[in-house]
Amino acid sequence: MFKALVLDQVDGKTQAEIRELDESALPDGEVLVDVDYSSLNYKDGLAVTGKGKIISSFPAVPGIDFVGRVSSSADERFAPGDEVILTGWGVGERHWGGMAEKARVKADWLVPLPDGMSGRTAMLIGTAGLTAMLCVMALEQGGVSPEQGPVLVTGASGGVGSVAVALLAKKGFDVVAATGRTSEEAYLRKLGAKEIRSRDEMAAPPRPLEKQLWAGVVDTVGGTVLARALAETHYSGTVAACGLAGSHELPVTVMPFILRNVRLQGVDSVNCPTPVRQQAWQNLLSDLDLDLLGDVGQEIALDEVPDYAERILRGEVRGRTLIKL
Ligand code: NAP
Repeated sequence: MFKALVLDQVDGKTQAEIRELDESALPDGEVLVDVDYSSLNYKDGLAVTGKGKIISSFPAVPGIDFVGRVSSSADERFAPGDEVILTGWGVGERHWGGMAEKARVKADWLVPLPDGMSGRTAMLIGTAGLTAMLCVMALEQGGVSPEQGPVLVTGASGGVGSVAVALLAKKGFDVVAATGRTSEEAYLRKLGAKEIRSRDEMAAPPRPLEKQLWAGVVDTVGGTVLARALAETHYSGTVAACGLAGSHELPVTVMPFILRNVRLQGVDSVNCPTPVRQQAWQNLLSDLDLDLLGDVGQEIALDEVPDYAERILRGEVRGRTLIKL
């Protein structure tokens, strides 16, 4: 038997409770994993509260990422004792996820824990940190470099935003952090932000083109914030868009694209091909100041998840939230 956070629907509402389950209840998959940590992402907040249609069928175990040790494997790529990371692939959405002491998943979805990285560190990074790295890689592929000018990170005190600030600062960029929480200024400066910009200023509807301020942008917010970021991006700059914490809409004109050669690069971590993921994890190992993760992360127990799920949707959770199994 093992412990799991189980979501069920009662009168059309999602309810979360901790249950003891038998291994036979787990979905099919080649690899059984003893989960050490999962983490709480914005998408998990939507799933656990039922405020977003994330879970495809109930009952279900949420948790879009986890790290743990292989307990048994029918796939020759993995052996008992191997430490593995899972992020995305619809786990915690269409397939039971990481908020349980055990998970059974497809071997194709797992990546080995990079040598030199602990499981706890990997989950402090988690889906959010992986996504932040994919955004940074998108800026680099767009040719953005520190001498071209400042870069902007929106939703900066969230999970993706915090790691993006730390990564870009370590690479020598002048990072401007846009946040709705002025109380997080000291935290963002510690991660390496040079300047803070208020969310209200970013959320003001832009003219088709504004003064050119950013060589690159990592946007986790969407809506008018992303529209303004595009209108403020330098000629030939790149904007990596990965989130919708503010809105899924994009009220923008074509002007930044056709007059300033601006590139809008979408970033998806869920179905990201395995070689790109492995490269991103290696980059995280070399490019992220792991000492800063202590500031970025907090640890909670499984029974605290429903409360934190509400809080992450209200934008009250700073950085990353680890769930200890
Ligand atoms: P998070 O920790 O909740 O961070 C989101 C941040 O956005 C908040 O901390 C807040 O930052 C800001 N924010 C919240 N509500 C807002 C609003 N109404 N208007 C403007 N800003 C708002 O979430 P996360 O896990 O970092 O994820 C961030 C976004 O990226 C989410 O939309 C998530 O779904 C998406 N995401 C996408 C992928 C992908 O593969 N594409 C992967 C991971 C996450 P401040 O307080 O600093 O303003």
